[in-house]
Amino acid sequence: MTEVIEFQPGWELIVGLEVHCELATKTKMFCGCRNEFGHEPNTNVCPTCLGLPGSLPVVNGSAVEYAMRLGRALQCTVSPSVFARKNYFYPDMPKDYQVTQYDKPTNTAGKLELPDGSFVGITRAHLEEDTGKTSHQGGDGRIHGAESSLVDYNRAGVPLVEIVSEPDIRTADQAKAYVDELRKIVLALGVSDAKMEEGSMRVDANVSVRPVGEPEFRTRCEIKNINSIRSVGRAIEYEAKRHIALYDVGEKPTQETRHWDEEHGRTRAGRSKENSDDYRYFDEPDLVPLVPTADDIARIDAALPMLPASRRRRLAEITGAAAADVTLVVDRGHDDFVVSVVGVGADAKKTLTRVENDLPPDQPITLAPQSFAQLVIMETAGELTATQAKQVLAEMLENGGDPKAIAAAKGFEAMASGALEAVVDGIIAANPADWAEFVVADDKARKKLSGFFTGQVMKATQGQADGRAVAEVLARRAAR
Ligand code: ZN
Ligand code: MN
Repeated sequence: MTEVIEFQPGWELIVGLEVHCELATKTKMFCGCRNEFGHEPNTNVCPTCLGLPGSLPVVNGSAVEYAMRLGRALQCTVSPSVFARKNYFYPDMPKDYQVTQYDKPTNTAGKLELPDGSFVGITRAHLEEDTGKTSHQGGDGRIHGAESSLVDYNRAGVPLVEIVSEPDIRTADQAKAYVDELRKIVLALGVSDAKMEEGSMRVDANVSVRPVGEPEFRTRCEIKNINSIRSVGRAIEYEAKRHIALYDVGEKPTQETRHWDEEHGRTRAGRSKENSDDYRYFDEPDLVPLVPTADDIARIDAALPMLPASRRRRLAEITGAAAADVTLVVDRGHDDFVVSVVGVGADAKKTLTRVENDLPPDQPITLAPQSFAQLVIMETAGELTATQAKQVLAEMLENGGDPKAIAAAKGFEAMASGALEAVVDGIIAANPADWAEFVVADDKARKKLSGFFTGQVMKATQGQADGRAVAEVLARRAAR
């Protein structure tokens, strides 16, 4: 039994997410119209996506391929699937039905791994077409109080994958992490540009609460209109608190669709939620089932890139760090570089630290792994101090070049060996009383005095000496 995470004392939060992801195909799902964002309204349309009588759909093979690729990345089973009509009336959908998949979706029963190592189950990831877009003129932009409404069908028929999670999510942060991870996967696969602000990735959250220990789920509300990862967290927390407040006064939430109002930080009631019966689903008579072969699936699997979770695991294994602590480097796409640098013999932990802290975070790395490894090796061997290593690296980033040559040009190399001993001897000679004390001191007292001598050496070398090397020289001199 897993531990219960309480949202508020005595209450558990239950969240399932539905994410709509527009596929980055050249053309729409069932016609040859361009699939591009930002064109003049109603310029990318044809009889099929306008739902004119007599027009017929033709399936976009790339969309099917992308959907299966995403399904396999989410560890789903890919099965033969059937398109269905979901009937409802809305002005942005000229056919009065949406072609989607119902009881036989392309992808089922997968899972998604979060950076903290937890998993969220994927119920299904099915293919469907997007609707057009209405905008309401006059008033505050909502349909109520508007003077007129305009509709743009450029988006009608754009291919979508709808990814439905199990109600496995227990905190707002986990919901945010899920959306973030899904976005990274989609981008790694190249199947969508996943821009929440442009609506190519849209999140609906099914939210309910229940008293801790109650086995059944209670009434859920579906929150739509969430267009940033931050809003995912805010909307879920608001909605859960609303439910608890209702239960606290002996009332209940009603099952309904609600809209997230970003400006006021609250949800508002929309239409009361239909049951699937209301949609009168039936198989789409104008399309044949999709039946991928075992070869198709094997080919897709073989072409999958290494996904973020595997990349985190690989980097954690190599460096001995926790998977959650290598997220930053993986998100920046710098993990391959770390792997190469470690591969030519550099210390893994030191390499991870230097890459994470000292390389420009927003740029691809242009340094040769061999040069970077050489730098790390020099630092690890005590030939360069941390400060010096950073200076050499800055020079390498600025003008390129070999770290050994740069260190020599800066006079760093000498400092690490003979020159350092000379400086230490000078300091010893200048402080005979402290040195006499150091020689006879016990470990504890010696530590303190060692700090004094190291400080003097640092002062004399403007911080260019390696503290560890100084301690070694001091110990050697004292042992004579
Ligand atoms: Zn069209
Ligand atoms: Mn949908």
